[in-house]
Formats: sequence, structure tokens, C-alpha cells
Amino acid sequence: MKRVAILGSTGSVGVQALDVVSRFPGRFEVVGIAACRNVARLVEQVHQFRPRVVAVADPASARAVRAEVPAGTQVLDGDAGVSALAAHPDVDFVLAAISGGAGLRSTAAAVEAGKQVGLANKESMVLAGELLMGRAASRGVAILPVDSEHSAIYQSLAGHNRAHVRRLLLTASGGPLRAVPAAELPAVTRERALKHPNWSMGDKITIDSATLMNKGLEARWLFGVEPSRIDIVVHPESVVHSMVEYIDGSLVAQLGVSDMRGPISYALGHPERLPLDLAPLDLVRLGRLTFEPPDPQRFPAFTLAYRALERGGTSPAVLSGADEAAVAAFLAGRCRFTDIADVCADVLEAHVAAPLRSVEQALAASDEGRRQAERRVARVPAPG
Ligand code: NDP
Repeated sequence: MKRVAILGSTGSVGVQALDVVSRFPGRFEVVGIAACRNVARLVEQVHQFRPRVVAVADPASARAVRAEVPAGTQVLDGDAGVSALAAHPDVDFVLAAISGGAGLRSTAAAVEAGKQVGLANKESMVLAGELLMGRAASRGVAILPVDSEHSAIYQSLAGHNRAHVRRLLLTASGGPLRAVPAAELPAVTRERALKHPNWSMGDKITIDSATLMNKGLEARWLFGVEPSRIDIVVHPESVVHSMVEYIDGSLVAQLGVSDMRGPISYALGHPERLPLDLAPLDLVRLGRLTFEPPDPQRFPAFTLAYRALERGGTSPAVLSGADEAAVAAFLAGRCRFTDIADVCADVLEAHVAAPLRSVEQALAASDEGRRQAERRVARVPAPG
């Protein structure tokens, strides 16, 4: 019986993780769940999964949850409560599926406490990947990526000698706007940008997949591969989830349907595979798979991740914070789609990188990126 905590249980990944867990009642015990404001869904999950601990980041929501859960359920609140659940002595595996930089502290707490971590929260790696991987290595902790691309790389590396890797090839679907001409991008609406052709995900990551922001940043630290050996290829069908090229020219890839329950179950079950009952991938019916280079005119943001890595230190954290603020502004109708990349480029350009020494410093850099982006968003002309 693996004892799990699901952080971000009310979100897209969290709900799917609980779905996977519910299919294997003998294998997993949900010791705790954590979220922020979605009281109704959290309470529903408590009644279904009967966790011993519930952590609610938002104190007012925590009070509302406390009033509605069965007697004996421990309700923790605030960021500290979420981190306490991540480090709980009765937990073996932590699924880190909180969205945004808010997920970093609890991911770090899980690593420090020696938990096996299933990492969906990209921002943890983007903000403080080097620190987290260093701590995980010294604590002997496995960080299993849950993002489909990184899970694919992880699976394609299994059983191979890392010294034989030539490069990583991350696939990107191109998102909802892949075929939209560059000239039309400034007028793209929120609804259109959120209509992902292949994946059903939270809003922030759907917009990131449309801009290609942050691509490559996570892989840099997760797999210890320098940016010059990480390439991006646009693959609209999202069937090849990513590939590793070896020194003999062989490509090893992982293929599958576009369903996050695949990579979630891989991380949850590791080192075993779970007999997951998803619709099989029918390659004959699919007929063909296509690949194209990313178009830097349409996706100017994807070069920003590389620039942030070159600058190093606090730069990726600043870029990540700027992206969070710019995406939120776009979703709120305060800037245009194309302003996201422009604002982030501007913030990154103005930042003077400092060496990164702590999680708190990474969070402060991300906050600074957010503030600087908000300042710039306030100056761009209102859309429409
Ligand atoms: P959602 O927006 O759907 O869900 C976010 C979750 O995080 C919710 O449970 C939310 O709680 C919780 N949350 C937000 N802020 C806090 C906080 N301060 N403290 C505690 N909990 C908080 O996001 P996704 O599920 O789409 O994504 C989660 C992470 O996984 C992101 O980092 C994303 O990049 C990554 N990811 C997602 C994929 C996907 O398919 N969705 C694929 C690959 C990676 P509440 O709703 O109660 O406020």
C-alpha cells in the first residue's frame, strides 16, 4: 500500500490523480489532500477518499472546509499547512500538482522530508530546479516527472547509460494557436487561446502551451542536460510525447494517447506500471504523424527560456514570475496575447541575474518578475 498526498487535488492534474488512485483501491491510501479555494470540490473529495489530513492554503476556505468534513479529519491551513502535509510522516509519495510558484515550498518540503515526489508543478523546476535536484540527490529522493513530455524523457532514458545521450527532443503540440498567422495573434481572444486541440489542462498551462513559454527549462534540471542539447520539435498530434537521441543516432521515444492519467499513473506506480484501462493508441487509424520546427515569429516566447538559462541564477525564476503575471493579465482581458511574450522579454532583459542559493530567494525573484510584469502590463494599450 503506497501512502499518498495529492497537493492541488481540486485542479486538473489533482482530479485525474484521484481518478487513477480510485481505480486501484488496494494499492494506494490517500493520507492527505491539499488545495486553495475550491471548497465545494475539496469537501466532496474528503467525503469520497476519507483522507486523514486536509490542507487548505486559503485560511477563509480552510474555515469553511473545517465545518463540513467528518469528525477526526485534521484540517491544516496556510502555506505552512500544505508544506506540513507534504512532509507528513505517514506519507510515502507526494504528488506536487499545485499550479504556479505557490507549489515550490511544498515540493521543497517533500524533498527535505525524503518523500518520493511525482512532480507536475513545472514552476518548482523552473524556479529552483538546480537546488531541488541537488537536495533530492543528497537525500536519495526520486523526483518523477508527471508532465507528459518529461515523463516521456524519463521513460526513454530508463535502462540506458546517461553518458550515451546526445540530446533530448521535447515535443510541443503547438497549442491552440499553432496554425494562426502571426498577424492575427494580437487579436486572439481568451476563449480561443484556451481551446487546446489535444489536452484538457488548467488555464495557465494551456496558455503556456500556446506561447511555448518555459519550454526546455524543466528538462535542463530534471535530466541534467545543458540547453544546447535540448531541442524542441512541434508535433501537432501529441502522440510522441518526447524522445531521447543517443550517440549512435538511435531515437528512443514514448508514445501514447493524450491523457494525463498515463504519466500520472507512471509516477504513482513507479517502479511498477499500473494496468490502466485507457483507450489504446490506434496508430493505423491515425495514419501519420507530423513534425515541424517551432516558428520563432509565432512563438517568440520559446527562445526566452533558453535566454533565461544562459543568464542562469535568478533569471528563470524572474521569467516564470513575469509569465504568471502576464498570463493572468491576458486571461483577465488586460493585455493582448502577443503582449505576454513582449512583457516577459522586457522583464528578463532588465533583470540582473544573481546566483541562486535558496528556495526563498527563488520565490523572491519570481515575485519581482511578477511585479515588473504587472508594471509593464499597466502601460500596454488595452485590448479591443
Ligand atoms: P489547475 O489550475 O487546474 O489546478 C491548480 C491546483 O492548485 C488547484 O487544486 C488549486 O486549488 C491549487 N492551488 C493553487 N494555488 C494554491 C496555493 N497557493 N496553495 C495550495 N494549492 C493551490 O492546474 P493544473 O492541474 O492544470 O496544473 C497543476 C500543475 O501541473 C501546474 O504547475 C502545471 O504547469 C502542471 N501541469 C499540468 C498539466 C495538465 O494537464 N493540467 C500537464 C503538465 C503539467 P483551488 O482550485 O482549490 O484553488
